[in-house]
Amino acid sequence: MLSYSFEDMKKMNRKILGDTVPLELFRTIRLIGMSQGLPLGGKGTTVTIGRKIGENLPVESIDDLLQLFERLKIGIPRIVYQDERRINIAVEDCFCIGLPLLEEKMICDLEGAMLEGALCKILNKKVSVKEIKCNVTGHEHCEYEVRL
Ligand SMILES: [Zn+2]
Repeated sequence: MLSYSFEDMKKMNRKILGDTVPLELFRTIRLIGMSQGLPLGGKGTTVTIGRKIGENLPVESIDDLLQLFERLKIGIPRIVYQDERRINIAVEDCFCIGLPLLEEKMICDLEGAMLEGALCKILNKKVSVKEIKCNVTGHEHCEYEVRL
């Protein structure tokens, strides 16, 4: 099967509406389409989708990955803790900020899975990424814990 690459995604020729879509569309796809449209809140599926995206990102270092994360306007990530077994990545200005709190549920799981897929590729080993803070659950920022 022929498939698109991330590089293909940058090939655009849209003259009138340009190369961006509103954040409300991204949120709608994420939170209404995926989270509410898929069985079990999209749990396993979201992780599969996020990892696949992450594996396809053209990044060769953690620094590349964090820069791309910001360029794609998902949020502004920074490493807040790092040792040989664990990295914590805080994300400021995440796409979720400003959304109402519905229940005690963090919602940036897709983005964490993207980090996971990309980090597995960059580090060439199995890593796991867990969402530990989210703006939507009242934290000061979103944050992921990477287990190396
Ligand atoms: Zn969040």
